[in-house]
Amino acid sequence: MKYALVTGGSRGLGRAICLEIAQMGIPVIVNYQSNENAALEVKAEIEARGGQAELMRFDVSKVDEVEAALGNWEDQHPDDYIAYLVNNAGIRRDNVMFMMPEEDWHAVINTSLDGFFYVTRKLLPKMMQRKHGGRIVNMSSLSGLKGMQGQANYSAAKAALIGATKALALETAPRGVTVNAVAPGFIETDMTKELPQDELKQLVPMKRFGRPEEVAALVKFLISDSAAYITGEVISINGGLYT
Ligand code: NAP
Repeated sequence: MKYALVTGGSRGLGRAICLEIAQMGIPVIVNYQSNENAALEVKAEIEARGGQAELMRFDVSKVDEVEAALGNWEDQHPDDYIAYLVNNAGIRRDNVMFMMPEEDWHAVINTSLDGFFYVTRKLLPKMMQRKHGGRIVNMSSLSGLKGMQGQANYSAAKAALIGATKALALETAPRGVTVNAVAPGFIETDMTKELPQDELKQLVPMKRFGRPEEVAALVKFLISDSAAYITGEVISINGGLYT
């Protein structure tokens, strides 16, 4: 059986993506770092809608945790594999660069970029062997496309993810595995709730933040059979903020 793994699936965009993928009839592995209650709620909601979900706790930025959790899963599922991977886990620790603590630089890059590397590297062999058209979607950001003040760490991580998406897409294309990135603008989640929303909405041509469900609908398309010929792309979803 083909499974989906969504990193950072317990809240925000990841939560909406888990719900959407489960509605496609794909069993979903909901990864989270520490908020078990939120992850349990996602699982319960998927099951209430008739879908299948399981939880998997690991910190994407810690290679030992990634290898152990995914290795155990593979041992327990000899006939299954993870065909759909959404590298969504991410954090932000904003600060102007001259005041940015070293740990905030590394924490942001380690989560978005190292996390992508550790999880994807572990899953690629099976995804490529099966030749059934695997899918990888990486959660980048408008910040990675244009750069944003106070986000040198975050913009660097999200821009690097775009480079990695394009390189990996070339490696996996002959096996029918697509690799794409999604670049959201401002979306209503815990990550953006502290921001001055009224001010920022004025910058958005559509005058509103996006909803997690709108990003999830795009990810759903990218992992569907309909998107089999799209790879190495970065798709923006930002209400016209960067067009
Ligand atoms: P969020 O509401 O803060 O949720 C973050 C999720 O990531 C949570 O499920 C959290 O798990 C998980 N997570 C954080 N660090 C992790 C780690 N080291 N290992 C595993 N899981 C980890 O964030 P969001 O707004 O949904 O953002 C999701 C992704 O979209 C991020 O990559 C973000 O950079 C990107 N993005 C967001 C926006 C936006 O406007 N919201 C815009 C562009 C891009 P716990 O629940 O266990 O803490």
